Amino acid sequence: MLRDWGSRDTEFIAMTARVQAHLAAIAGGRAGADLVAVPLQGSGTFSVEAALGTFVGPRDKVLCAVNGAYGRRMVRMCEVMRRAHAVVETTEDTPVSPGAIDAALATDAGITHVAVVHCETTSGILNPVDELAAVVARRGRRLLLDAMSAFGALPLDMTELRCDAVVASANKCLEGAPGIGFVVARREALAAAEGNAHSLSLDLCDQWRCLERTGQWRFTPPTHVLAAFDRAIDEFLAEGGVKGRGARYRRNCRVLVDGLRGLGFETFLPDHLQAPIIVTVRTPADPRFHFEAFYEALRARGYVIYPGKLTLADSFRVGCIGRVDETDMRGALAAMRESLREMGVIDCRPASGPPARPVHGLPAPPR
Ligand SMILES: *Cc1c(COP(=O)(O)O)cnc(C)c1O
Repeated sequence: MLRDWGSRDTEFIAMTARVQAHLAAIAGGRAGADLVAVPLQGSGTFSVEAALGTFVGPRDKVLCAVNGAYGRRMVRMCEVMRRAHAVVETTEDTPVSPGAIDAALATDAGITHVAVVHCETTSGILNPVDELAAVVARRGRRLLLDAMSAFGALPLDMTELRCDAVVASANKCLEGAPGIGFVVARREALAAAEGNAHSLSLDLCDQWRCLERTGQWRFTPPTHVLAAFDRAIDEFLAEGGVKGRGARYRRNCRVLVDGLRGLGFETFLPDHLQAPIIVTVRTPADPRFHFEAFYEALRARGYVIYPGKLTLADSFRVGCIGRVDETDMRGALAAMRESLREMGVIDCRPASGPPARPVHGLPAPPR
């Protein structure tokens, strides 16, 4: 990142091509063959919006599966882009149901695409993408996958999974710097989407055609971020790819969840629904627990956590991904123990009883 790369220079063009080839390979494709990886400037959301706008044409209709904020964000994108859409929603602690998707596809012949989030980072829940892909394929529709927080850590093979496009970004499981998202797409599906896009800068076909023709990005690329991404992919491969990285994240998650429970916390999800990406923890009922104070006490010890994003229950989140290992997780747990002692919190159990259930479509009632 310390080098000032020329965005039209041959070395930068080669670096872009190398990153594209690696991304297609990570998704299970052979470079230049069936799959193409199209990088896009911006955060991950830009690439999700580009994928929806490019693959779902003005005469198409997309069924959005929602069980968290990222599914909800796709619905919002459809509203803004004025793309016809339908929604199948489950609560944040419930995986997207293949049966519900099947029923929706059976009753609405107008639906052409289904959009699903692989790991819903809102809660950390794993959605059953293999079963969902099978249902969508059986109904003759096309699948778009937001695998932002899963790509590179959870197995995903587009040669087996029937899916037109997978969206992710440089800065999650691939551990690059933020600033680039990408879409790995089936070549024929991307070619067929020509002319669909609602936007010039978010037109994946146009971005792809320009890269094919010239090797260059259409508009100024984040050169430093691509250089970092290129290096991050080398480190990803050196760790053993999806297998090695996924194994480290699973160990992180195991140590974290066991340690949290050892401190008396309750995780939001049961283990069988928990992806090894981010863990949601129910807020303790103890009146001495305040998230802001806990956050600051951890931060002072060198650990940064996330606020909760749920509508179902008061919570906070702890990530398992990035350049961290079991030692870091144990360090975080020790810092939590000290912080709780400092705050005078003795009981980390959440308020008893089942979590509040929101009325469908309305915000959760206050707890
Ligand atoms: C992180 C993430 C995104 C994109 O978020 P940005 O803040 O735009 O990078 C989209 N979907 C999921 C599931 C995510 O985890």
